[in-house]
Amino acid sequence: MEKPIEKILAQKEFSKADLITLLNANEQERQLIFAKAEQVKKEYVGNKVYYRGLIEFSNLCGKNCFYCGIRAGNKNAHRYEVDEEEILQAAKYAYDNNFGSLVIQAGERSDKSFVRRISEIVRKIKKMSNGELGITLSLGEQSEDTFRQWFNDGAHRYLLRIEVSNPELYPTYHPADDRHDYFKRIESLHLLRKVGYQVGSGVMVGLPFQTTSDLADDLIFLRDFDIDMVGMGPYLEHEDTPMYKYKDQLLPRMERFYLSLKMVAVLRIMMKDINIAATTAMQAIDPMGREKALKVGANIIMPNLTPTKYREDYLLYEDKPCTDEDAEECKRCLEARIYMAGDKIGYGEWGDSKHFKRRKEQNKEKQ
Ligand code: SAH
Ligand code: SF4
Repeated sequence: MEKPIEKILAQKEFSKADLITLLNANEQERQLIFAKAEQVKKEYVGNKVYYRGLIEFSNLCGKNCFYCGIRAGNKNAHRYEVDEEEILQAAKYAYDNNFGSLVIQAGERSDKSFVRRISEIVRKIKKMSNGELGITLSLGEQSEDTFRQWFNDGAHRYLLRIEVSNPELYPTYHPADDRHDYFKRIESLHLLRKVGYQVGSGVMVGLPFQTTSDLADDLIFLRDFDIDMVGMGPYLEHEDTPMYKYKDQLLPRMERFYLSLKMVAVLRIMMKDINIAATTAMQAIDPMGREKALKVGANIIMPNLTPTKYREDYLLYEDKPCTDEDAEECKRCLEARIYMAGDKIGYGEWGDSKHFKRRKEQNKEKQ
């Protein structure tokens, strides 16, 4: 007979079978998981939520991930790159409003001029904010030199989702070529750690052909890599992508949502002091999706600061929310929602991963 959820939740370590049981929890059982995650969050990271103002710098991308609406092969996507001036304005907004940090995200490119532009932007944001704004990058796989250059420019966190941790499943969602190599992505995660970044990763939940056993492996992957930050959310279909043809085989959207919520809660219970984002994709399914994620363990939110005129074009998936709001509306709406979820905002703080700090201190002690 399967172990009862209460018994699993009382353990310190979880086997893969335990994780599968937790992820399969029904509507009643999942409340126990959510309550435990809420308690762990309070105890280990507190009820402060940190803002990372999100700038979707460009939807130009050299890759062709089968799920993504801005993949190179999507000829219907209208491509853009935000001007440097506009980025600095958005960064100024974040600074003036005490956001603490920014995330710069874009499609993956590694040409010299792109690498240089990012360097310049990072340096200018640092200068404008007297070094006070923290900068997270999410710009895909890069060489060690590039990672190091951007780190030296002032970026200190990097998000690179593994997307799916099973190397055998990876090619189901990516073309079989050199640019979409699972092991290179893993290598990038190691390089980021080596250079000194706080490293974030994550997965999509509810992909076609993905099982709860795969998701349990994803959680184990994040734990074994000893990741500092995580962003995960439901997979959402996009009509102009090769994966759209499987749309009838997907879990219904609400089930994908609750599965994502369970992933967040179980991860919080497993990795007590990491940073976990309440992702936009959660809100794409449920208007209160991000608040619900905060309630069950997430502690990071990324208000969108991309100038409104570009937002419609950064469509990774359909039904992306807030594409027509400006930064001010976004901020007001979020503030109210966060207070409703019982949290408060860590204004003006970087809100670094406690997990990262702890590992650094432990490493020092060992030396
Ligand atoms: N190009 C960079 C960053 C931009 S994409 C990179 O790929 O790392 C950011 C994230 O969007 C990806 O990591 C992926 O997890 C998510 N994403 C892309 N398409 C999606 C979809 N259809 N549904 C849900 N999330 C998606
Ligand atoms: Fe490009 Fe990232 Fe989309 Fe892949 S997920 S196609 S790398 S933007």
